[in-house]
Amino acid sequence: MQSFVPDSSVASTVTPSPNYGDRKGITSPDMIVLHYTGMADAAGALVRLCTPGTEVSAHYVVLEDGNIVQCVRESARAWHAGMSSWVGDSDVNSRSIGIEIVNRGHDLGYPDFPLRQIAAVIALCKGIMLRRDIPKHRVVGHSDVAPGRKKDPGEKFPWRLLADSGVGLWVEPTPIVRSEHKMLGASGDEVLAMQRKLASFGYGVPLNGQYDGQTMDVVAAFQRHFRPERVDGIADYSTLTTLDDLLAALPKEVATA
Ligand SMILES: [Zn+2]
Repeated sequence: MQSFVPDSSVASTVTPSPNYGDRKGITSPDMIVLHYTGMADAAGALVRLCTPGTEVSAHYVVLEDGNIVQCVRESARAWHAGMSSWVGDSDVNSRSIGIEIVNRGHDLGYPDFPLRQIAAVIALCKGIMLRRDIPKHRVVGHSDVAPGRKKDPGEKFPWRLLADSGVGLWVEPTPIVRSEHKMLGASGDEVLAMQRKLASFGYGVPLNGQYDGQTMDVVAAFQRHFRPERVDGIADYSTLTTLDDLLAALPKEVATA
């Protein structure tokens, strides 16, 4: 594989991956998807992302010590999101920059993300957002675009810290209260209204008025990102109110689209 000059000034190394293609119908990416690697160590993750035949890759890998490796040019389509959808678009790979954050993940103990690593993620994202004119609400997690399949970067990922630096949309989640109204298992207008709100925020959710398994997965994905204190797929008052607040925090032209 031929090396190249990194697109980001904060990327210290280039380890070129053969796993990429052309962006389809998109000239410049307009969203960022954050992942964790979910493997035992960074070296193993880099080998997997840069080996022909694995059919996975990402534009960047952020190591625990804050070093950043670029594997795929930003102009190319990396293979990180898989089956996914966001704001009705199912080709998330064509639209996005994929960033893998080294962390063993839920199946291997799920350690905290070191602050050095988070600072590097913020610096990397800020640069991409500035160069590519990507708004903060277009920085999402893999679990947001693939709710039934993926949990990364997970409920320990400090979205609030990122938002303090202008990366990602965040509102303070409404506190959880006990014995409140819950919607689980219900069907009808109330469920449909919630599904519509989740869909207008970006989630791929059925609009059928049924609190089915798919809807529960999407509610859990929403909680994992925006109300991480409890991730149970149950639409409690705290979850619904946090969703309303996030919709209100979207830029006006997006919210009315
Ligand atoms: Zn992922």
